[in-house]
Amino acid sequence: MSDAQANIGVVGLAVMGSNLARNLASREGNTVAVYNRSPERTDLLLSEHPEAGFVASKTIEDFAASLAKPRTAIIMVQAGRGTDAVIEQLTAAFEPGDIIVDGGNALFTDTIRREKTVSATGINFVGAGISGGEEGALNGPSIMPGGSVEAYKTLGPILSSIAAVAEGEPCVTHIGTDGAGHFVKMIHNGIEYADMQLIAESYDLLRRIGGHDPAAIAEVFEAWNGGDLESYLIEITAEVLRQTDEKTGKPLVDVILDSAGSKGTGVWTVQNALGLGVPVGGIAEAVFARSVSSKTEQRAAVRGTITSRPPVVEAPENFEDDVRAALYASKVVAYAQGFDAIIAGAAEYDWNIDKGAVAKIWRGGCIIRAQFLNRIVEAYEKNAGITSLLEDPYFAKAVADGEAAWRRIVSIAALSGVPIPGFGSALSYYDSLASERLPAALVQGQRDFFGAHTYQRVDIPGTFHTLWSGDRSEIETEGSSH
Ligand code: NAP
Repeated sequence: MSDAQANIGVVGLAVMGSNLARNLASREGNTVAVYNRSPERTDLLLSEHPEAGFVASKTIEDFAASLAKPRTAIIMVQAGRGTDAVIEQLTAAFEPGDIIVDGGNALFTDTIRREKTVSATGINFVGAGISGGEEGALNGPSIMPGGSVEAYKTLGPILSSIAAVAEGEPCVTHIGTDGAGHFVKMIHNGIEYADMQLIAESYDLLRRIGGHDPAAIAEVFEAWNGGDLESYLIEITAEVLRQTDEKTGKPLVDVILDSAGSKGTGVWTVQNALGLGVPVGGIAEAVFARSVSSKTEQRAAVRGTITSRPPVVEAPENFEDDVRAALYASKVVAYAQGFDAIIAGAAEYDWNIDKGAVAKIWRGGCIIRAQFLNRIVEAYEKNAGITSLLEDPYFAKAVADGEAAWRRIVSIAALSGVPIPGFGSALSYYDSLASERLPAALVQGQRDFFGAHTYQRVDIPGTFHTLWSGDRSEIETEGSSH
């Protein structure tokens, strides 16, 4: 049995866990206990990284004994059943006051459930979203912890020591209680889907209408990365487009099958936004775009029936600038929708989420890290009560400045037969918010016609129904029109 000498432990030593453990061990003051179900992984980590000074255990009981109190352990195992199994073992081995952190990609409702069960034993449970992949885990991720304020007092300094640093601040903040951290991580991933889709549409437009080859488009993205679009995703896009396939000498992007996969967090975002009644069209279109792309058989079958395609419209002058402006405006919409989902989630689950602090911790370590997030921080610093990012003067002006270009791009794409689900839905969303009246009035009329769902009037308070199958006079009714 080891002495209680470690201040932090990691359970699960596959790629994420071992990188996180190495990151922890590299920070001054940390002694890291490690445990993995199969001892081979533990042995491998120890032999490859003797410099880390890990305290390794072969049983969960020894692992618990190797940790100083309050014991703090981060679980990095396969999400789902693996996480439940490890939580059960740790709960049996730990004592009240100890802290179990799930750093995997858990669904936030699972985290809420687990927090309830574990905290009933007096042990703290923290679901922490960790973004940034393998590289982030090793060198500094963006960390989104939920759980109790009390647990964060012990955990905060440890997480701050390993998080990415952006503009002098560690990319970690206590998001809110129970599942708040995993909820915000889920929204982060949803925004990531939308951002990637919008960049992909920009590439497609520059290629099919702009007539540029991938290497030339890489230059365009590199130039954009020097401006207000500066971000990790724009940067890596240039890298991918510049890559030549060793086997064929072609651009790599041309030999990669155009069928995009996913691990499901985008789907979770959309499913939960639907439940919360938040329109996240940009994220949903990005998820759908991956689904369409992967229907290779269906695409081929339908393509086979199409005999003519519209001619590609000649790119107008300043086409690249127009694409850039459309990308920026659509990106603003995608982030606005993501933050709407955070606001709705916070209201539903009773979390007090500081939106500006969320934007801050996304500035480093994670996939959507970008200059742009500083503008979001500023927007919420100026007025934390805005109902939409599009209400903020900076974003309102940014979208208005790009509006004409945005409309040109959506039109030219439609005329040329280039799919732009992200750009198109973002513009329609903006136009919906901008319209004085929406055709929802007609939808209410239709609902009242076939289902007596009732409606409200613009001029008189109350709830009304037209006697459609009678004399079509209007009556006032009890209840809501929704
Ligand atoms: P993984 O492949 O998801 O899981 C493998 C690890 O889980 C191994 O250590 C395995 O132990 C352990 N495990 C599985 N079932 C178990 C069980 N029933 N009991 C005990 N241990 C069990 O590993 P990963 O790719 O390193 O990911 C770890 C977590 O991080 C996952 O939740 C994943 O979704 C998340 N993740 C996040 C990011 C990110 O960017 N944030 C990226 C990748 C992954 P054995 O060695 O004994 O099989």
